[in-house]
Amino acid sequence: MTTIEPTETTSGAAGAGALGTTASGTTAADVLRAHIRDVTDFPQPGVVFKDITPLLVTPAAFTVVINELAATAGGYGATVVAAIEARGFLLAAPVAYRTGVGVVPIRKQGKLPGETVSRTYDLEYGTATLEVQVDAFRPGDRVLLVDDVLATGGTAAAAAELVRQSGAEVVGLAVLMELTFLSGRDRLAPLEISSIMEV
Ligand code: AMP
Repeated sequence: MTTIEPTETTSGAAGAGALGTTASGTTAADVLRAHIRDVTDFPQPGVVFKDITPLLVTPAAFTVVINELAATAGGYGATVVAAIEARGFLLAAPVAYRTGVGVVPIRKQGKLPGETVSRTYDLEYGTATLEVQVDAFRPGDRVLLVDDVLATGGTAAAAAELVRQSGAEVVGLAVLMELTFLSGRDRLAPLEISSIMEV
C-alpha cells in the first residue's frame, strides 16, 4: 500500500516535467500509476482502456493528481480551464476550483443549450462532433484544455480548434496520461502538452 502525502508546491513550473514530489520523494506519476487500471479489449478488441476510477475513488491520490494539474494550469497562466467530455469534466472542475479560475465544458454534439460552435473529426470508425457555447470564453482568455488520456490527438485537436474559433488562446493541454506510441503530441504540435505519466 502506497502512502500518499500532499505534493509540494510546483507553482511557476509550466509544461511537461513539472512533476511535484511528496516529502518522501514519491512523484505524482508514481501515485497515478498506482491508481490506474488497465482493461484489455475495452471498448473494443485490441484497445487497452486506461480506467481512472481507482484514482477518482481514492481521495489522497486524487488530491495529489489534481494539485499537479493545478500547478500546470498556474504555470501556463491559464485564465480558464476547458474540460473535454466526459472524463475531462471530472478532472477540470477540481483543477479550476483549486486554481481559482472558471471551467468551460466542451461537449459532444447536442448537449449544450444556446448557440454553439462545433467541430467534427475522424475516429477510427466514423466521426465525432464536439461543441462549445459561442460565448463561453472572454476576450483574451488563456485556455488550458484538460482530459484524462491523450491518444491519437484527434479529440484534443478538435477541442483546440473550437477554442480558437471562439476567439480565445489555447495555452496548452494537460492530461493524466499520454499514449506515446500513438504520437498525439506530433499531431498537436506546436501545442504545449503536459502529461503526468507516459505509457
Ligand atoms: P484521441 O482523440 O485518440 O487522442 O483519444 C482521446 C480521447 O479518447 C480522450 O477523451 C480519452 O478519454 C479517450 N481515450 C482514448 N484512448 C483511450 C484509452 N486507451 N483509455 C482511456 N481513454 C481513452
